Amino acid sequence: MTIRVVARIRPVHQTELEKDIIVKVGGIDGEALTLVKVPNPKNEHEDFTFQFSSVYTEAAEQQTIFNNEVAPTIKHLFSGFDVTIFAYGSTGTGKTHTMRGGKALAERGVIPRLLSGIYRRSRKLEKDSKGQTQVEITLSYYEIYNDKVFDLLEPPEKRTMAGLPLRDSNGKTVVVGLTERSCDNLKDFEKLYDQANVNRSTSATKLNAHSSRSHAILRIGLAVTTGDETRISTVSAIDLAGSEDNRRTENGKERLVESASINKSLFVLAKCVEAIGQKQRAPYRESKMTRILSLGQNNGMTVMILNLAPVRSHHLDTLSSLNFANRTKRIEVREVENEPIFKGCSRAVTTVTGPSIQRQPLR
Ligand code: ADP
Ligand code: MG
Repeated sequence: MTIRVVARIRPVHQTELEKDIIVKVGGIDGEALTLVKVPNPKNEHEDFTFQFSSVYTEAAEQQTIFNNEVAPTIKHLFSGFDVTIFAYGSTGTGKTHTMRGGKALAERGVIPRLLSGIYRRSRKLEKDSKGQTQVEITLSYYEIYNDKVFDLLEPPEKRTMAGLPLRDSNGKTVVVGLTERSCDNLKDFEKLYDQANVNRSTSATKLNAHSSRSHAILRIGLAVTTGDETRISTVSAIDLAGSEDNRRTENGKERLVESASINKSLFVLAKCVEAIGQKQRAPYRESKMTRILSLGQNNGMTVMILNLAPVRSHHLDTLSSLNFANRTKRIEVREVENEPIFKGCSRAVTTVTGPSIQRQPLR
């Protein structure tokens, strides 16, 4: 199974001009929209064309993105597989809109809709089993900023300068000391999530600047218990930092250090994607974000939503994102079924059931 890569193009803002729209979409022979076309900056008469599993235009609603791209992963999750959903794109292209979205019902992003879907399925499973099966849902939410991990379920005062360390555990990377909250309904989730998002922005002096330079990772744990047997699987929903190349903008010194670091993790991610494409060893360990994301390692079903702005002011970032996405869509992901844990057995065992790319073992 490869990573499913889909593109979503945001609407033009009021301050932007229709005549500056350079990103076009198309289909093959009038089929579904799967092509994104962007002019060659050196020769405007020539278009670069990129193909994805799906392409969503500015007319696509939040519900459509969720129904098509995220809802199908819920079944997978309940079958004991892990799921990773991440948004990639430069700042201002709609990553947070896609993942978190707005407060109004129609504006809700994929994360609250995903939780809603998971709760609904859990209730149904519990009811259909006549109480034989219980589902427990836990949440962790953290950000990676300047290559340091900070818990977003804790108030910012509790942060230490160094952030939380990472550790390898059974082939997965875990954050040591991260809060894990049990959360059994959507209302409680929304409270936690809203507070955590406040924690995310108040820890910064310049609100938007901070959130566009940090990666936000929500980890939803699902534990389904029937009798002695518990099956655990997780979803990671990730709003990555802005992928823009800050070397092109004139930044102050402080900003340069930070953007160098942001660029570093996204740069390492690009190197990983490149290495995987060439069946070489990927340098995951060069940044915390890539260690955690471990693309093509153990992430199970993986969906990348590439967010794009349609206008000329984003031209070069749009092309660089499209090139990245083009390489990402070729990555094979392993479908690792999480084996049930039995009472009295301390260690979960994992088996590889899907194809995996040939690579040196990393750990
Ligand atoms: P990012 O997180 O990638 O920096 P945002 O999600 O903050 O970008 O989006 C930038 C702005 O564009 C926000 O005001 C957001 O509400 C708006 N926006 C993005 N995508 C859409 C969309 N599909 N429909 C309507 N507004 C959008
Ligand atoms: Mg954002």
